[in-house]
Amino acid sequence: MTPTAGPYAGTARLDARRRAIELDALADDPRVDLLVIGGGVTGAGVALDAAARGLRTVLVEARDLAFGTSRWSSKLVHGGLRYLASGRVKVARESAVERDVLMTRTAPHLIRALPQLVPLLPDLLRPGQASLIRAGFHAGDALRLSAGTPGALLPRVRRIDAARTRQLVPAVRTDGLRGALVAHDGQLVDDARLVVALARTAAQYGASVLTRVRAQEVTGTSARLVDALSGQELTVTAGAVVNATGVWAGEVDTSIKLRPSRGTHLLVDAARLGHPVAALTVPVPGSTSRFVFALPQQLGRVAIGLTDEDAPGPVPDEPQPTDAELSFLLDTVNAALATALTRADVRGAYAGLRPLIDTGGGSTADISREHAVLESPSGVITVVGGKLTTYRRMAEDAVDAAVRLHGLPARACWTARLPLVGAPGHRDSRPAPAGGVPASLLARHGGAAHEVLAAGELTPLVEGLDVTRAEVAYALSHEGALDASDVLDRRTRIGLVAEDAERARQAVGEVVAGATGG
Ligand SMILES: Cc1cc2nc3c(=O)[nH]c(=O)nc-3n(C[C@H](O)[C@H](O)[C@H](O)COP(=O)(O)OP(=O)(O)OC[C@H]3O[C@@H](n4cnc5c(N)ncnc54)[C@H](O)[C@@H]3O)c2cc1C
Repeated sequence: MTPTAGPYAGTARLDARRRAIELDALADDPRVDLLVIGGGVTGAGVALDAAARGLRTVLVEARDLAFGTSRWSSKLVHGGLRYLASGRVKVARESAVERDVLMTRTAPHLIRALPQLVPLLPDLLRPGQASLIRAGFHAGDALRLSAGTPGALLPRVRRIDAARTRQLVPAVRTDGLRGALVAHDGQLVDDARLVVALARTAAQYGASVLTRVRAQEVTGTSARLVDALSGQELTVTAGAVVNATGVWAGEVDTSIKLRPSRGTHLLVDAARLGHPVAALTVPVPGSTSRFVFALPQQLGRVAIGLTDEDAPGPVPDEPQPTDAELSFLLDTVNAALATALTRADVRGAYAGLRPLIDTGGGSTADISREHAVLESPSGVITVVGGKLTTYRRMAEDAVDAAVRLHGLPARACWTARLPLVGAPGHRDSRPAPAGGVPASLLARHGGAAHEVLAAGELTPLVEGLDVTRAEVAYALSHEGALDASDVLDRRTRIGLVAEDAERARQAVGEVVAGATGG
């Protein structure tokens, strides 16, 4: 297959035309070094790793970038505290190191430091629990230091008084409030944006990123690809095949056994909680290690999550939260609020499935979040498990395995030093344009804001949402969105609240029609 040529060579632009050109090129010469199946954070990370090492790489995604679990996360870039609590120091450190890579080099433009606050309310915490949490926070701080992340980026643990607690989370209960413990972690403006930035950067290094293309009949060196838009089929041969299909991994390679676990979040208006600027962390009654978080989000919402429920059976395209999960989340968070939230406050809810490796009995909460790279008898390399935070390391391990097992001609991995599209240091990034650029646009696009401004008008799509027409035009011209659903549900996250999606649908449709001539 010829590397990306013509107007797209060396660019991070993904659009319908590039997709068509690259599908044609693949049909003409269906031989590649690496075929990556799955366009979530893991597959996009693998494609970037491989393309940056000089491998001819094709990524196929059955629906859209970030269609699966990667868009349903809590959007935290974790420091590994959870692993530390269970004594897995090496994995905990790996998470802290990857957080540092993301926040200092590869994607600082998409991540901010989020204060996470545990209110010191006597009836919320069991005797001794505050000391345990404080010790855990300090251990997390030690991890941060060992990863070299400066305190200026992620401030160290501290205790704050009741007045400051109310400033950060105005809706917190005040009767008996003795202040709060505060630790910091990273928070993505949006998880799907990380996936798109990875896929675009991979494309810039020559990877073909093909959405609406499903891989079938997959072996260690080949797959049949079906284009959902044209119905066209072709068989590619590859030096190696990496299965990065998350909870669908067992459908691509039947030797993989997973035990998915559902995590649910609900969304409320930030105004209802007084526009918090910190995450409220509430212990789950009866557990020493589980918490419910109220996390401030873009688009004026707070996400409250999350659950951990066994989800056996067929894997749905879009998992649905259960009524019991919503009650659990509301009941838990309400214990820390001055005025209880009710069902009427819930503006939306979403659920995702964790792709956990089946290790037999026990609860899903006890299954390791470590990742695994597995070679099946047919030679397919599956990379599964892990976290959004550790995608880069997962990708490195998967490509290393492909190189080792299949003798691919690759250079050493260097993604820890490779800024993604929009990051400072990326070749197309520019400093923030002077004046008049909404902070929300900068938070979502970083150093690529100048390209967004050139793509369309800065007028909001609809009243009350800070997404502009320019961002929709840019989603279609640069971010690989092919239709209104890609825009509403993955390039922007307007679709998380059904009512917002309905209000914005017509305006999005107009921009899509303008761009596609439809
Ligand atoms: C509720 C929840 C909260 C989480 N919160 C966090 C967090 O805050 N921080 C963190 O670091 N991690 C978090 N995680 C973990 C993280 O989200 C996942 O580990 C990660 O997103 C998995 O990504 P993936 O790319 O492996 O899978 P996916 O994102 O599911 O991607 C797999 C892709 O493969 C595609 N596909 C499937 N079959 C085929 C086929 N035959 N051909 C082509 N394409 C195919 C699918 O359409 C899909 O897009 C959370 C997970 C959950 C469930």
